Amino acid sequence: MRRQRFDLVALVHELFELLEQQAARRGTTLEVFPPHLATQELLVIADRNRIRQVLINLIDNAIKYGREQNGHVVVALTPGRNGVRVAVRDNGAGIAPEHQARIFERFYRVDKSRSRSAGGSGLGLAISKHIVEGHKSTIHIKSVVGEGTTMEFRLPRPKEVK
Ligand code: ATP
Ligand code: MG
Repeated sequence: MRRQRFDLVALVHELFELLEQQAARRGTTLEVFPPHLATQELLVIADRNRIRQVLINLIDNAIKYGREQNGHVVVALTPGRNGVRVAVRDNGAGIAPEHQARIFERFYRVDKSRSRSAGGSGLGLAISKHIVEGHKSTIHIKSVVGEGTTMEFRLPRPKEVK
């Protein structure tokens, strides 16, 4: 693992550019929240490449399993004393409680046929959880069937930044 200082807002913008066509094809918008953060810098200390991989998977999931037409995917960044809280939120179908713990298992997919048509292998969340835990954090899921899903974790900030 290579920890370094980097701007999380710039990383999110880079990933929105990478995923914007995929989002547009499903009629989904990608946003940073709060909007004023989009023009600021938010430094964190983490392995940029690996966090990039985590965010690609969470945003890709939010697009693929989020609502088709009028889908909104929001990456909410909340700096605080205990680092930055990073939350990826969608307004999709949600995940029933009995599936919520299991989706972090390798190859586990809720709706086999729908997930298969969406592509992928069911490894993204298992890898993401492993990477986040390697940063001494955890991925929390909040999901309500019929409303949507939020996946969140924390990243440390440089000490001298207030
Ligand atoms: P891969 O990430 O390997 O491309 P995948 O996206 O199917 O494949 P995971 O990212 O591990 O695999 O997700 C596991 C399963 O959890 C998905 O197949 C889907 O059923 C469910 N899931 C993940 N994110 C969401 C979400 N935001 N809303 C609803 N279901 C989700
Ligand atoms: Mg995935």
